[in-house]
Amino acid sequence: SKEIGRNSFQLYKASMNARSLERLSMLSRFQSALENSEFELYFQPLQCLTSSRINSVECLLRWQDPNLGMISPAQFIPLAEELGLITQLDKWVVNRACEQMAFWHSQGAEIRRIAINISAQFLSQGDLALTVANALTKHRLKGQYLEIELTESSFISNLHEAKMQLKQLKSLGVSIALDDFGTGYSALSYLTKLPIDILKIDASFIAKIPDEYGNSEIVSAIIAMAKALNLQVVAEGVEKPEQRQFLQKLGCHTLQGYLFCKPLAANNWMNFYNSAKLT
Ligand code: C2E
Ligand code: CA
Ligand code: CA
Ligand code: CA
Repeated sequence: SKEIGRNSFQLYKASMNARSLERLSMLSRFQSALENSEFELYFQPLQCLTSSRINSVECLLRWQDPNLGMISPAQFIPLAEELGLITQLDKWVVNRACEQMAFWHSQGAEIRRIAINISAQFLSQGDLALTVANALTKHRLKGQYLEIELTESSFISNLHEAKMQLKQLKSLGVSIALDDFGTGYSALSYLTKLPIDILKIDASFIAKIPDEYGNSEIVSAIIAMAKALNLQVVAEGVEKPEQRQFLQKLGCHTLQGYLFCKPLAANNWMNFYNSAKLT
């Protein structure tokens, strides 16, 4: 049994080495991906349900690996979080988003807000608001044009730091959205404890409209609550006309999903904007 113990330890050690090698190569791949501009932002427009016009635009990160092709953020973001690299990526996104918004303004495109996803790690670290302030100054952009999207899980690790950061962001004029609403645990208390402006109903609820029992009632209750709390409400992942009709009837403000538009590369954006403006 001593022998078995030693063998399994050897095995464990070997797999640990493989794992740390994997980590090491991932670390250097991320680093070179950042240096070689393999990361790119895509932009998904959100539609106002009363005016039908573009309300805001969400930035969605893409990784174009020269060998593997397009890697989805659902794959690389959890890894970047685990390796402690997500903050570096998020900082790049903050700057890239401000740069793009300033460019659109220079082209006369009246987009009300650009939204950025920020990881829990970055929020708890303490320099999110400072990074945003510097990016705004650098690109001569007002804070009112920026929106920060956070998930409920971001507040769990350090509520105190989160509060401080949000307060500073608010003083810059930046809007705060609570992303993936309904999938976490204690979201309701955050709605009053934190300065949240926008509530994004998670796509999993929208996907079940109108068929699944009880689901439509949950969505209509969320919309009613958001309105009572003076929050703007966004429905994520809207793919079907029936879903749009249902949301419109309940007075949901904004729609996001393939039904309106998929995420677009920057060079396809102005075409979409110009055609959407005409309708
Ligand atoms: P999210 O913030 O909930 O973003 C919405 C996701 O839904 C995006 O997936 C978007 O492409 C997708 N989507 C939009 N409309 C539809 C629809 O009608 N149907 C369906 N099935 N999907 C739709 P994506 O781009 O793969 O991003 C996945 C997640 O990765 C995001 O979820 C966000 O949590 C994270 N992420 C993306 N970009 C960033 C970033 O720059 N920084 C950080 N920290 N996280 C990011
Ligand atoms: Ca989001
Ligand atoms: Ca979401
Ligand atoms: Ca999400």
